[in-house]
Amino acid sequence: KPAIAGGSPVRPTLLPYGRQMVDEADIAAVVEVLRSDWLTTGPKVDEFESALAQVAGTKYAVAVSSGTAALHAVMDALDVGTGDEIIVPTMTFAATANCAVYQGAIPIFADVDSKSLLMDVASVESKISPRTKAIVAVDYAGHPCDYDQLHALCQRHGLSLVADACHAIGGSYQDAPVGSLADLSTFSFHPVKHVTSGEGGAVSTNDFELAQRMREFRNHGITTDQRQRADNGEFYYEMTHLGYNYRMSDIQCGLGQSQLLKLTEFVARRQQIAARYDKAFALLTSVEPLVTAPDRQNAYHLYIIKLDLAALTTDRSGIYRALKAENIGINVHYLPVHLHPFYQERFKTGLGMCPVAENAYDRILSLPIFPAMTDADTDNVIEAVLKVVEYYRG
Ligand SMILES: *Cc1c(COP(=O)(O)O)cnc(C)c1O
Repeated sequence: KPAIAGGSPVRPTLLPYGRQMVDEADIAAVVEVLRSDWLTTGPKVDEFESALAQVAGTKYAVAVSSGTAALHAVMDALDVGTGDEIIVPTMTFAATANCAVYQGAIPIFADVDSKSLLMDVASVESKISPRTKAIVAVDYAGHPCDYDQLHALCQRHGLSLVADACHAIGGSYQDAPVGSLADLSTFSFHPVKHVTSGEGGAVSTNDFELAQRMREFRNHGITTDQRQRADNGEFYYEMTHLGYNYRMSDIQCGLGQSQLLKLTEFVARRQQIAARYDKAFALLTSVEPLVTAPDRQNAYHLYIIKLDLAALTTDRSGIYRALKAENIGINVHYLPVHLHPFYQERFKTGLGMCPVAENAYDRILSLPIFPAMTDADTDNVIEAVLKVVEYYRG
């Protein structure tokens, strides 16, 4: 009997949907920075950027204060301004679209593919106009997009290709690492993401000019930082364009660098958990996991299931509440961005604009997945899903 109907829950304490994994080596790395001369704009920033560029397979990585700041820096680097249009998938975190709005540009929402919930390339193409400047692809849930198709499309129309890879660090597409798949790729180091620095973000690119511009952008648009001036023995600096304080501190970079050493292990564990879920749900008709293309490594920031509502006597909220009662910390990613009140009011978006994403939204749930989860935790989730789905079987 499910907990919501008076039975006992599958576990006594709540299993979160995601959480960080910080060990003694991470703590020691932060303490080391605290004892050093530089708490910000110091050498840890360079070290972290080098380590990240290695993981991303690019020449440059620019560390910034968040994944959102990374997206904003990208928009600035591409000279996105008033009236420009940026095509983004609607199934994403709001920040993917907000970064265009920061620059006075207009986000245009593309629909998604029903099997993967990745941006649908045909929908993107149908939304290209003379004002389109860039496409921001999102590797939703950790599954890299089809970058061959996206590159071909961008080339045909003379557009920049950006990857919002905040879900997908450690993944790959046709053996090329996430981070190297677009002109610019963004990462987040928020605690629910694969590696954390508390707060933090970065952009990877092979373009020296763009990297340089983003280094200035994160420091008010000033051409040198404090350490460069200390090294040169100079006081003079100038601001050449408008930037922000989007710096990532050495404390954060120290933690990020230590965490990055465990990325391969973290992703492998996420893939193991996903495989256990896949196997358990393969025979369930009312639960449909998303499909990963065979030429890609999914980094599994999220594990998403779609419910077959026709086979159930309740809706997504009913299943959500029943799983919560079992102490399974589930979540929903995401309300399609074009349905947020801000976008409906400011940009006159609304229901009907992206029917596939709208339909998926009513049926999706994100199950817990994070490296510190044990097999027993994973089995609790599986047991709870089977129990709840059986109870509500139509
Ligand atoms: C987390 C996330 C961001 C923003 O990252 P922050 O570091 O929280 O600012 C942007 N896009 C996507 C897809 C994300 O998941």
